[in-house]
Amino acid sequence: MSSFEICFLGSGTSIGVPVIGCDCPVCTSANPANVRWRPSLLVRSAAAAVVIDTGPEFRLQAIRARIPRLDAVVITHPHADHIAGLDDVRRFCQQRGGPLDCWATKGTAAVLRRVFPYIFDREEYVPGLPALTMREIDGPFEIGDLRFHPLPLDHVVVDNTAFRISQRGRSSPAVGYALDCKRIPCATVKALAGVDILILDMLRRREHPTHLTLCEALDAAGRIRAGRTLFSHISHEIEHEEVSRTLPEGIALAYDTLSVAL
Ligand SMILES: [Zn+2]
Ligand SMILES: [Zn+2]
Ligand SMILES: [Zn+2]
Repeated sequence: MSSFEICFLGSGTSIGVPVIGCDCPVCTSANPANVRWRPSLLVRSAAAAVVIDTGPEFRLQAIRARIPRLDAVVITHPHADHIAGLDDVRRFCQQRGGPLDCWATKGTAAVLRRVFPYIFDREEYVPGLPALTMREIDGPFEIGDLRFHPLPLDHVVVDNTAFRISQRGRSSPAVGYALDCKRIPCATVKALAGVDILILDMLRRREHPTHLTLCEALDAAGRIRAGRTLFSHISHEIEHEEVSRTLPEGIALAYDTLSVAL
């Protein structure tokens, strides 16, 4: 049996694909790989189930992936495409009969508390309401047997967090998760180097002020040298088949519902 698995709940950029009111070939494509919900990843072992980011489609994603239970959420940064669905954790609270842990850095935690003031650190769990216990990230942490090592990312407008994820007591297999960035600090590149699977920001070919372009993502992937790199946070300017054909061996586009066992 594999030690843990990842599943892409969403692989799209902030506005999702199809884009509202757009009739471009990607937005009207019949290929399901061109339908991209907002970015989120399920990380699951026999002992723990964790969602990284809860965007606007979180409820639909949880239903589509048939997630039976959740132990914690990890939030990378407080942009709406990563947090807007947080209220829907309430169903998972109801199943546990109590709050879930929410892991976020101090800056992200402050925004989450402002946007969802009713969710955090209630004195008593009220069945039916969403309830999260804020756990501020100040170094590596564990959820069940899953170990998360936080790493800084430069997203220009806000601090973002990447993660190296493995199981307690084992440095491999490991997954790197680095979305929403324009630059990856050297120390983060070093810490992600050689992971089995790297999930990397790649918005489109054209320049963008806060995200990696295809060229920049290929360059970053070359520096991190993961066993396999999967691009995510993809816009409607990327047609799945057309761009997939141009990618070097070991690098591919992620797509919604893609699961990888480690
Ligand atoms: Zn984003
Ligand atoms: Zn379009
Ligand atoms: Zn962002």
